[in-house]
Amino acid sequence: MQVARPRIVRETRRPIEEKEPPEHSALSPHDWLSGDSVALYAEVAESGKPFDVYLSATAEKKIRLQAEKEAPRRLEVMGFLLGEVREWKGHKYAVVRDIVTTELKSSSSKVRFDPEGFPKLFSNLDDSGFDYVLVGWYHSHPGHTCFLSRTDLETQRRMFDQPYHTAIVIDPINRDMKAFRLSGNGYDEAAFAIFEGGANGRPKKPRTRKLKIKSVGQ
Ligand SMILES: [Zn+2]
Repeated sequence: MQVARPRIVRETRRPIEEKEPPEHSALSPHDWLSGDSVALYAEVAESGKPFDVYLSATAEKKIRLQAEKEAPRRLEVMGFLLGEVREWKGHKYAVVRDIVTTELKSSSSKVRFDPEGFPKLFSNLDDSGFDYVLVGWYHSHPGHTCFLSRTDLETQRRMFDQPYHTAIVIDPINRDMKAFRLSGNGYDEAAFAIFEGGANGRPKKPRTRKLKIKSVGQ
């Protein structure tokens, strides 16, 4: 999929906060995890180390419903993952609290933001209501299984080249969901867990007109 890089009006950097991830008792594997992903989830859960990504039940539901809505027409959907990057015991992890999307031009194997939808996307980002970091993106592969195509990998390298940047791929037909990150010349599957919670992790900020995307310093 081709993704036009969004114009960032202002970018600020902030240090990565040391904070304990959601407790294991509050976590669950995604219902659609398949073979290897189930094993990966179990391995991380037993290790006591943080998962790479914590996906809020709210964000998961939005992604799944959007993908399922377009599944009968086999149309791909996509959007951005918003949340925080944190560190715990030397491990960096991402928390996805919410997603944002806009009108899309899509087919069964290609999707991109409609340029005319960009003002709406930025308005939706403003409305997301918390101090977010763009932690990655998601898109669907209706019926194609979950992986990163060569174009997806190019998008990841071009837009999401930080270690915490995650690509979530969902296949609403085969009912599968996986998370990926760049690794060497290719990519690896990332371990993710679902936690109860949503976009209310931070106090609501007054709405601003300008898009502000935060990134995190190393
Ligand atoms: Zn793809």
